[in-house]
Amino acid sequence: MSSPASPPDVRQRLRALPSVERLAQALARSLAADAAPAGHTPAEQRAAAREAIARLRAELRQQPTTEATPADLLARGLDLARQRLAARPGLIPVINATGVILHTNLGRAPLAKAALDALLAVGQGYSNLEYDLSAGERSRRDRHSEAHWQALLGCEAALVVNNCAAAVWLVLDTLARGQTALISRGELVEIGGGFRIPDIMAKSGVRLCEVGTTNRTRLSDYEAALANAPDVRLIVRVHPSNFRLLGFTERPSLAALAALARQHNLLLFEDVGSGLLADLAGCGLDDEPSPARSLAEGTDVVTFSADKLLGGPQAGIIAGRQALIARIRQNPLLRVLRADKLTYAALEATLRLYRTGQTDAIPVLAMIRQSPADLDRRARRLARSIRRQIPPGSATVTLEAGQSVIGGGCAPHVQLPTTLICLSPRHLAAEELAARLRCGTPPIVARIVRNNVVGDPRTVLPAQERDLVAGIVRSLA
Ligand SMILES: *Cc1c(COP(=O)(O)O)cnc(C)c1O
Repeated sequence: MSSPASPPDVRQRLRALPSVERLAQALARSLAADAAPAGHTPAEQRAAAREAIARLRAELRQQPTTEATPADLLARGLDLARQRLAARPGLIPVINATGVILHTNLGRAPLAKAALDALLAVGQGYSNLEYDLSAGERSRRDRHSEAHWQALLGCEAALVVNNCAAAVWLVLDTLARGQTALISRGELVEIGGGFRIPDIMAKSGVRLCEVGTTNRTRLSDYEAALANAPDVRLIVRVHPSNFRLLGFTERPSLAALAALARQHNLLLFEDVGSGLLADLAGCGLDDEPSPARSLAEGTDVVTFSADKLLGGPQAGIIAGRQALIARIRQNPLLRVLRADKLTYAALEATLRLYRTGQTDAIPVLAMIRQSPADLDRRARRLARSIRRQIPPGSATVTLEAGQSVIGGGCAPHVQLPTTLICLSPRHLAAEELAARLRCGTPPIVARIVRNNVVGDPRTVLPAQERDLVAGIVRSLA
């Protein structure tokens, strides 16, 4: 325990604190040296400096025995002020060095260059969002991208809404409100962010009839439920994307469910989730369901996200039989869930890359396909560059074999081999270095493993490499 310091002692220590003005100036200089200045106003900078000094003052009062020079206090104040600025709301780009490809907290899929070009082209002026250019009259926005879906999925019709959760809700509400839907107990999942299948079914006014057990559901369980439950309209199949049941498990094939649905004049709806359209053979994603395969096996309607394995903007896709999609188009709540023009622009541009065989231009797919050899080369190059620029003795930089993951609740069992860059700071705790990296411009989000700050090159875009190195160098300076 530290002995209480006498008041004159504290007063002397407090005198070593920089003034708010001095810290604000140092902060302004430090921000100006950032690779991509975030544009904080002078008022925001002064407020951050003031809060940092207040915090430092409190720290000094609490631990009056700590020896700190004015230079130490200024450096600590700068850290705190930058943390205050980083804590302010506002959407800014960050560098994802976590190795989690579809990081939901970091915005899921980075967009392809073609999608960004389309955003710019459509966003900076007017567009034919709800206008038929050949007829010269009003049209509907929900026709955009439909031809792409027909070509890519072999579906009769398709519709875009705000996200997959909205898509699921709209399908249930339109096709089975007031009626009963059968679903296996093994598929009553929580997807994340409060999206639970039983809740969404209840909200859409669909009666839920649970079938089978958590680990085993047979076709005969569906048949038994059909004999007992009143007014069944729908069989719902949900891809339990974010967890895997191992061992004694069973569920009927989609084709068997489709046959059962036809036999009883029911509809089969599958929520596929991740929207895999590309061939990712050899990447461990063999049992990831694809919407095209789901439809081919006899599903009447499928839903999936556009910003997961598809690699596009946030959107939810509903695809399937013409008559059903037509009914969903008539649902007045489509207006509530509709996608905006920027979403259509980015989505259509991304789908065009699929149709022209340029899927390597889709960042999510390029990241998944990066070979271990390429990743190792990149990690080595980055580590060399970091070692060359950091102050001598400030940290050791090593390489280690590791694993990247898909993330976004997709394929939790898949681990992609990678090479990690491990930073072991000499004069800082790993948590402190990680906090500095997060509060830099652009912020860098990394993992902490065994007292090292660990970065995975897989999720760092090639264009961000320079900022990554510069950010690390600044944080260790
Ligand atoms: C991710 C996911 C959803 C939710 O998708 P959002 O686009 O995030 O709304 C729904 N169902 C499944 C199976 C999913 O994997």
